[in-house]
Amino acid sequence: MSYLEVLEPLVRSLIAPEAPQTDQLARFPRAALDALGEAGLLGLISAGEVGGMGLGLEQACQVVERIARDCPSTAMVVTMHYAGAALIEKYGPAEIRSAIARGEHLTTLAWSETGSRSHFWAPVGTARPDGDDFVLNGNKSMVTSADHADSYVWSSRPAHTPQGASTLWLVDSRAQGLQCPAAFDGLGLRGNASAPVRAEAVRVPASAMLGADGAGGDIMNGDALPVFANLVASTAIGIADGTLQRATQHITASRFAESGEALCDLPTIRAYLARAQLRADQARTLRDDTLAALATGRADAMLRVLEVKAAAAEAALDVTDTAMRMCGGAAFRKEAGIERLFRDARAASIMGPTSDVLYDFIGRALCGLPLA
Ligand SMILES: Cc1cc2nc3c(=O)[nH]c(=O)nc-3n(C[C@H](O)[C@H](O)[C@H](O)COP(=O)(O)OP(=O)(O)OC[C@H]3O[C@@H](n4cnc5c(N)ncnc54)[C@H](O)[C@@H]3O)c2cc1C
Repeated sequence: MSYLEVLEPLVRSLIAPEAPQTDQLARFPRAALDALGEAGLLGLISAGEVGGMGLGLEQACQVVERIARDCPSTAMVVTMHYAGAALIEKYGPAEIRSAIARGEHLTTLAWSETGSRSHFWAPVGTARPDGDDFVLNGNKSMVTSADHADSYVWSSRPAHTPQGASTLWLVDSRAQGLQCPAAFDGLGLRGNASAPVRAEAVRVPASAMLGADGAGGDIMNGDALPVFANLVASTAIGIADGTLQRATQHITASRFAESGEALCDLPTIRAYLARAQLRADQARTLRDDTLAALATGRADAMLRVLEVKAAAAEAALDVTDTAMRMCGGAAFRKEAGIERLFRDARAASIMGPTSDVLYDFIGRALCGLPLA
């Protein structure tokens, strides 16, 4: 059975039916994560040598895209897990890699801070050497799966190398000195537990460092951004697809009593649908081209990486906005499921690097200027 055949029944029997409650109660989708772990899907990108499925970014994108059609909150939790797992696969210890492969370890990125805000590449949190250990202090502003993940891929200022932009750490979420001071009560992605995490004198061993001290910026750009940008884009594409599917169902089924015509008999409504479908298809095509550029080492791969998240995030905003208009008052009601996806779609464009930051980066890349 392929990984998508393993996923489909889980989405249909568990993730999709739970999605409205996940949203309404801002409830972390624990049962879904447990089921995905048991099915091996949390270990999708873990190497075969540690017991994982040994698949890659393309397949991870398909997984989060499919989940996002029905539950974007769960898709974002899986997105951040894969983003962290990719770094742990390359720089982390075998023991945690095996636990991820077994589906027994959920991870996430803890990068955004109250100080550096969405400029995650310039953290203000610190790492102070103390004997053989390091002591972390910092205020993370929004961490998906906060208080539910087993580990955080944590960023700080470098411990020893002032010229380096940042250093990455693998931090056990149960480490003493870590706390989540407030629960998440957001507009959208309400089930993803994207809460603040504070580190006060959290002691970690030197082995917790992922890559070299001061190498965080290179790892963020070289290893993390291609994975993260494509995964967030795929979540946005899944939201657009789920919205189009629900909107099409509504406009073909809803009729005017006086004429017997359906909403889809109105040319204006059909044109809105067509434009929204184009936006979704353009985003998917760019995502697929970005994955192809990365897989073949094409010269424009990094430009595509900068483009893909902005394109898909903005497409999801447009598609969900259009669906709200096409489906009228019915879309305001929770039963149609469209307003939930409309709210969930707001996140991707303001997750770092935000669309506006990416526009600046793309412009800089085109002009031959340094990115940051
Ligand atoms: C649902 C959700 C889940 C998240 N999960 C995580 C997570 O797991 N891990 C994590 O580390 N973070 C996470 N984040 C945080 C996210 O990545 C951003 O850091 C956060 O949303 C930025 O919020 P802010 O208020 O600090 O934005 P600000 O940085 O204050 O930005 C405010 C506005 O200014 C614009 N802006 C900022 N800088 C520039 C610039 N240089 N040029 C042009 N415009 C600019 C932005 O585009 C934005 O419109 C999550 C956020 C959300 C919404």
